[in-house]
Amino acid sequence: MTLAPLTVGIDLGTTNSLCAVFEDGKPRLVPNAHGGVLTPSVVAVLKSGEVLVGEAARELRLTDPGRTCAMFKRWMGQGRKIELAGKEFTAAQLSSLVLRSLVEDVKADLGRAPTSAVITVPAYFNEHQRRDTRLAGELAGLRVERVVNEPTAAALSHGYHNSSGISNLLVFDLGGGTFDVTVMEVFEDTLEILSSAGESHLGGEDFTDKILAWALGEIGLIFEHAEVQQPLLVARLRDEAERAKRLFGEQDQVTLRVPDEAGNVGHGARSLELGAAHFEELCEGLIERLRKPVERALRGARLGWDQIDDVLMVGGATRMPIIRRFVADLLGRAPQAKLDPDLVVAYGAAVQVALIADNKAVGDLVMTDVCPFTLGIEVTKELGRREVDGYYLPIIHRNTTVPVSCEEVVYTLRPNQTTVTVAIYQGEARRVGDNIKLGELHVTDIPHGPAGQEIAVRFTYDLNGLVEVEAYLPATGAKFHTVLTQGVSGLDKRAMKAALKDMQKLKFYPRDDLDNQRLLSFAEGTVKELEGEMRAALEAGIDVYESVLYSSDREGFAMMRAQLLQQLRDLGFPFPTTPEGESGRD
Ligand code: AMP
Repeated sequence: MTLAPLTVGIDLGTTNSLCAVFEDGKPRLVPNAHGGVLTPSVVAVLKSGEVLVGEAARELRLTDPGRTCAMFKRWMGQGRKIELAGKEFTAAQLSSLVLRSLVEDVKADLGRAPTSAVITVPAYFNEHQRRDTRLAGELAGLRVERVVNEPTAAALSHGYHNSSGISNLLVFDLGGGTFDVTVMEVFEDTLEILSSAGESHLGGEDFTDKILAWALGEIGLIFEHAEVQQPLLVARLRDEAERAKRLFGEQDQVTLRVPDEAGNVGHGARSLELGAAHFEELCEGLIERLRKPVERALRGARLGWDQIDDVLMVGGATRMPIIRRFVADLLGRAPQAKLDPDLVVAYGAAVQVALIADNKAVGDLVMTDVCPFTLGIEVTKELGRREVDGYYLPIIHRNTTVPVSCEEVVYTLRPNQTTVTVAIYQGEARRVGDNIKLGELHVTDIPHGPAGQEIAVRFTYDLNGLVEVEAYLPATGAKFHTVLTQGVSGLDKRAMKAALKDMQKLKFYPRDDLDNQRLLSFAEGTVKELEGEMRAALEAGIDVYESVLYSSDREGFAMMRAQLLQQLRDLGFPFPTTPEGESGRD
């Protein structure tokens, strides 16, 4: 007997990633090696060359920032190389490592590996960023069934929970590094996305950076240079800033401890006081930046705030009081708080899996989505007597319900012109230079004749965000066409095989040992807090632990682990056992 292929829903986040399956008529989050469901999107390469992902990598970031990388989702679609422990990676490769770690978690949980996935992306991700997301999935050995917009997934999760009445809902999605606003109409089991807007470089981490920049300023350092000059100090101070940001949810005044150059926060460490009002002042510019996409989304949906029935808050950063107040001021009352902003997207991704599989549990749910960007081509304009190229002719306008197919007719410029290159763009600017080029379509064998021969250009945008461009020559009946996200990831077969092989060479740190690696990082971090004899004693304890960690003496290892745990407890630094509980997930 063979098992049916397994599809999972994945929220591949800037800060954390989650994986969910649809089981027994409802979505369920898959636990990671530590028993939590949020896996930090952090990758580390150990001295041994092994790869660490998640909580253990996040903890290593404090003690060895040069070996770890976080926030790489911000670089998706940019083709930029990121150096990590002497190796170069792309953002797609680093993301694929996070996905591989989630795949391992599914294997451990369900006893079998998933074969395919629905992966969520910010609605405002452009085609290049979506393509990189697909590539990451493929590099992790997953067939990417669909790339779904995060707010749409959140809406699905909401719709799945709540299928009565009619209402206009605004999804306010502020993650670690991206901001999306989506307006939709919910009518019984039908979710109709009306508009989407956002910014792909604005998120909770920018609020942390504001605190970090302020604290660095207070100690006479400049944010832009400090990371290179004092990486350990900055890594630790960023952690303090992150903790402070979260504490503003409960207190009006927070204390940041200033680490020394080695990232240590010893007894005599200087401290800085930051009040909530001052924090909010520091963030005024960021709040202003949130306003624009909200206004754009409402305009796109042709609705005013008075017609919005509720706001669905998505993304960990919406926990900040300053954000909730901002939304409450716009809405005129507090936004709803029924769904967990960290989990709602992953749940929705699993609902999408069920929808694709025609699962009875979601049988009546219907959803329509929109194309978040305008798509078009480059054209030449006649301005007075001059012909000027570089202008943008939109073909599919943003916020058009998808799937959709639209056509525009363009004309040859010169007599006997036999070829035309149709340059395809995405974006809103009047000139193509300010938009993103997605590809080209070459039209050939245009029959000789005067200028002004017709070429009909048709764009088709499907539910997956796949764009198909077709050119038709009415004079000859010839058709030319291209699919912009070709081969799904944009790589040809050979390049894909090589890329896969490359990634498979990387060995994962054994999943069962991840907690041991975390303990090592935690203990190393604790060393920094201590001085004198206590420090020397802990270092000795760690040395023994590390030496047995890599040996095959499991019995001896269990003893040394217990000893180290005891030693940490005695020193007043108990090792947190669950990453989402009392741990350092500050
Ligand atoms: P996400 O990408 O949705 O996982 O969002 C993570 C972002 O939410 C990060 O910038 C976190 O710092 C932020 N975040 C998570 N929890 C809180 C909290 N309690 N208060 C403030 N920000 C938070």
